[in-house]
Amino acid sequence: MSQRDPRYDVLFEPVKIGPVTAKNRFYQVPHCTGLGWLRPRMVAELRGMKAEGGWGVVCTEYCSIHPSSDDLPHPYASLWDEGDIKAHSLMTEAVHEHGSLAGAELWIGGSRSPNLFTNEVALDVSNLPNSIGVPYQARAMNKSDIRELRRWHRNAALRAKAAGFDIVYVYATHSYLLSHFLSAKTNTRSDEYGGSLENRVRLVRELIEETKDAVGDTCAVAVRFSADEGGEGDGDPIIGEQREMIEMLAELPDLWDININNYYREMGVSRFIKEASLEAYMSYVKSITTKPVVSVGRFTSPDTMVSQVNRGIVDFIGAARPSIADPFLPKKIEEGRLDDIRECIGCNNCYVGDSKATPIRCTQNPTIGEEWSRGWHPEKIDPKGSDSTVLVVGAGPAGLEATRALGHRGYQVLLAEAERELGGRVTRESKMPGLSEWARVRDYRVQQISSMPNVDVYLENRMEVEDVTAIETDHIVIATGARWLADGRGLRNNTGIQKLGPAGQIFTPDDIMSGRLPTGPTLIFDDDHYYMASVIAEVLRQNQVPVTLVTPENMVSAWGDMTSEQAQIHCQMVKVGVDIITTHNLAAFNGSEAVIECTYTGQQKTIAVDSVVTVTMRDPDDQLFHQLQQRMDTDAEFNPLSLSRIGDCEAPSIIAGAVFSGHRYARELDTDVDPDNRMKYDRVFFEDG
Ligand code: ADP
Ligand code: SF4
Repeated sequence: MSQRDPRYDVLFEPVKIGPVTAKNRFYQVPHCTGLGWLRPRMVAELRGMKAEGGWGVVCTEYCSIHPSSDDLPHPYASLWDEGDIKAHSLMTEAVHEHGSLAGAELWIGGSRSPNLFTNEVALDVSNLPNSIGVPYQARAMNKSDIRELRRWHRNAALRAKAAGFDIVYVYATHSYLLSHFLSAKTNTRSDEYGGSLENRVRLVRELIEETKDAVGDTCAVAVRFSADEGGEGDGDPIIGEQREMIEMLAELPDLWDININNYYREMGVSRFIKEASLEAYMSYVKSITTKPVVSVGRFTSPDTMVSQVNRGIVDFIGAARPSIADPFLPKKIEEGRLDDIRECIGCNNCYVGDSKATPIRCTQNPTIGEEWSRGWHPEKIDPKGSDSTVLVVGAGPAGLEATRALGHRGYQVLLAEAERELGGRVTRESKMPGLSEWARVRDYRVQQISSMPNVDVYLENRMEVEDVTAIETDHIVIATGARWLADGRGLRNNTGIQKLGPAGQIFTPDDIMSGRLPTGPTLIFDDDHYYMASVIAEVLRQNQVPVTLVTPENMVSAWGDMTSEQAQIHCQMVKVGVDIITTHNLAAFNGSEAVIECTYTGQQKTIAVDSVVTVTMRDPDDQLFHQLQQRMDTDAEFNPLSLSRIGDCEAPSIIAGAVFSGHRYARELDTDVDPDNRMKYDRVFFEDG
């Protein structure tokens, strides 16, 4: 095994946090998984995997202290009763098994909690509307409510201790209840909990003291806090009163978990936010406390991590996304296997799990969320089940991942790609504005494949039926991807747009990515609702093309809301000078005028444009698959053991879908997976308590 570079030794120093000691500086900060209390066995196995991968501290997601903090449908953790203690014990045991510390982020929702499940009245610093627009207001807490809240918090801390946690959080940021007490904008109280800074900090101080009193003999008490009050985009940070507050509380907690006010920066997509972007906002914190400080910044480079520690910015390298994309990131640094690191690409697909109340998924790591339900390990995979050979046609994310995982299992694999470059859509899309980090999906896999003697890669090999049959492999996997349509077919126009032409003035994303661009005023019709239309708009604006972006949705890039980038995309469109028209469908285009139609009223209007880019849907490039299938049916000589299609060739989706598809194919080859029920379902909850 290779040795770690001594440059990185500092990352593996133990760090004391109050009464406990972390074995190294790798700290998985609290992050959502879309699992929460709903799926305790899945979450326990997921967190345990992080510990196995070397993270010295592994935390829960936001963990409700009481039923009045209920965020369903968003899956949160909870510590309400004995049942929850048992459920969390699964996690703490899994984490302790690898010598890591387990942290519980106690959460009080305030006006953010709609309590649609528990039907409790939400409580907050004053009467406030529900902050996500649910028509249930929060009521102002009186003194006895505050006393009750402190009791709930104390009891939840005791339950956290009983569940085996080593670190218990007071969570005072992210627009939840405690941050409302702290902020002069929301705290309009006139009692000792409002008004002066000291008064507004009082509740947080009390909770820190009471948590220490309750569990501080064996548990560290961490405070999650924002270092600033704002500073949108690339502007200078506005620290405001936050610094004074941290100064007031500086030595009280055992650890400061620092983030920033702007969530879009804190966990921004790589299109807009790069590695280590919080530093300018929070670098002062360590100068005002002797307690260890953790912060995030989508750190994937060990050199950046070392620099953060050596320059005194942080004591711990906090990570959510890098630990999702590669749960074994610390181990790989420790073992000097930097080439094996699967770097997060900053696409925020992992956030969809929380947004949509579904288990977490990751573009880079198809095993996340599958540790318990499918028994998938991010680094281990069963050896091959036979000496069969496999031909993979197409080296996009699906073909590359299938090849990598099959190669890892020891199969003899042939990968044929039509183009000169590997990567398929990832290679094409990573050349679009802001998306360069997406190439990491290709680079990780190509790097892994390059060291496998049992994998042969053939570039510039467009496979036809005769080529495939001539190769005579046992298994054939078609991963030839998909093409964007030019006829307007999509969500709003299932059978296409009847009057759309002339063809020379219609463009698709594939045209734009291959360099065929319109010149005059252009309408981009976005019936895809994710990032593609907006990056095309950027390309066209870079080429001085006037752009009108039309979408049938109520907002630009509506799905971007799920990945927490919708607002930034809107701002970017405004910044680059794109005209935005929402709630309109494209009805017709004749080469000089586009007719658009209100999706509510049907009212039409015309826009003078020279060209239309349709961003609607893709058709699988599955001709080769069907031809081969036909050949199998008609030619007895051609009888491979299996013919399969994966990725976009089967059903176009996001990059994560293609990676997953390739991975699953490779995992399941020569196994007896029940095709009707491929996974276990974590639907049993502990009943006692
Ligand atoms: P996915 O997202 O499913 O991986 P992509 O569209 O990213 O799909 O990748 C498909 C890849 O397949 C592209 O790189 C494309 O060049 C390649 N390809 C398509 N048809 C053939 C073929 N007949 N032979 C070899 N490669 C092909
Ligand atoms: Fe990173 Fe994307 Fe994976 Fe999230 S889904 S961890 S952002 S690669």
